[in-house]
Amino acid sequence: MSEWQPVIGLEIHVQLKTRTKMFCRCENVRGEEPNTRTCPVCLAHPGALPVLNGQAVEWAILLGQALGCAIAKRSLFHRKNYFYPDLPKGYQISQYDQPICGEGRFVVPRENDQLEVGIVRVHLEEDAAKTVHVGGTAGRIQGAETSLVDFNRGGTPLVEIVTAPDLHNADDARLFLQLLRQTVVELGISDAEMEKGSLRCDANVSVRKLGEEGFRTKTELKNMNSFMFVARGIEAEVERQIGVYEGGGAVEQETLHFDPQSGKISSLRSKEEAHDYRYFPEPDLVAVEPDAAMIDAQASQLPEQPATRLRRLETTFGLSFYDAQVLNGSPAMVALFEAIVEAGVDAKASANVLQNQFSAAGVDPTAVDAGELAKVIEARETLPRETFTTALAHSGDADFAAAPYLEDAAVSDTAELGPLVDAILEANPDLVNAFRAGIEGLLGFFVGQVMKETQGKADPRVVNELVREKLSG
Ligand SMILES: [Zn+2]
Repeated sequence: MSEWQPVIGLEIHVQLKTRTKMFCRCENVRGEEPNTRTCPVCLAHPGALPVLNGQAVEWAILLGQALGCAIAKRSLFHRKNYFYPDLPKGYQISQYDQPICGEGRFVVPRENDQLEVGIVRVHLEEDAAKTVHVGGTAGRIQGAETSLVDFNRGGTPLVEIVTAPDLHNADDARLFLQLLRQTVVELGISDAEMEKGSLRCDANVSVRKLGEEGFRTKTELKNMNSFMFVARGIEAEVERQIGVYEGGGAVEQETLHFDPQSGKISSLRSKEEAHDYRYFPEPDLVAVEPDAAMIDAQASQLPEQPATRLRRLETTFGLSFYDAQVLNGSPAMVALFEAIVEAGVDAKASANVLQNQFSAAGVDPTAVDAGELAKVIEARETLPRETFTTALAHSGDADFAAAPYLEDAAVSDTAELGPLVDAILEANPDLVNAFRAGIEGLLGFFVGQVMKETQGKADPRVVNELVREKLSG
């Protein structure tokens, strides 16, 4: 097993959440009644002409920049011809040899190093309609009685991201995909939810002997709809290919389906059935030629990348990779963290409270007054646990203030407690003598008196120590 090296490249489709579809003014929404968001353009009525969605172009450029891609000065749409019921035109408008974004590089931070994944291209296209297979099992076409087509999805703007075959195990593929998803979501251009199909991933998989140059035959694993299934699908396919080679066979180029239920891989189509798409330039659309001003405008809108932010949390605040990673899951949480540290709270303690008790309280981090929350976190060791939890739970309230909660803080100041202990000892000379004569159980009595005098706000550990010290003095 170990002498084989998996070689994995990913093709990721991301549905853009533009207001309208890619080439028409139909609303780009999910979950509506089937076939209610359609028009002559996305239903391919004769003579209907596509009009390019400018927002989709801008977002593709924004994404390309986040992935370190070169933005093409001139980019073309092509017709990708194939016949299927989900494609009323008989072709998909896509991009071929002149995509909107060229080569790039995406860096995925890991604990002690980083994973660098080459981006081959990012291009724009339209989504096909959604086919629903009725009857049969698991919604698949095999064994279905009828198939229905919902054209609402047809024409949804898509970007396709193609990586270089730089990934060498399933875990790295998952790691890459998770960070890519976070990047896309934070750009605000897609919900990128795998379960809902707004982020879809295909994997090109081959194996080769360690040290071997070049690549062997690859297969394509289609449409795995969760991060876990992507990883498991790749693992299963790598294992299958190694088995084929070790059994003296040859891997065939084919498109495969991974069934997460059974863990089995089955063939969707072989090389002989592969499509010849007969790409040719789309005559109804002009070339996209973004000028420098447009590219700069997108660059200026790029937020801090999740990968950069993660490293900053490690280096600037001295957080462990694990803590930085947990916190980095939410930019709002990071902003709150930074404000709390700014207010003087220790970084490690702030991270700890935020990712544990604060997260558990389910408070919206953007609603929190960081200065007030900082006071609560600062006092956490002297607050009764319940007071601390309650304060965190209310930290998002509009009128939240730390002061009322801090009143519950335990008194742990010996300068304040000392005279009180002295007074109690003075008032009970007989008991003091009894303690000194060996009745150590009386310690609890004195501690109890102090707690009573402070209405329970004294820190029992401090009181215990103080009383013992004074009794033996
Ligand atoms: Zn339409």
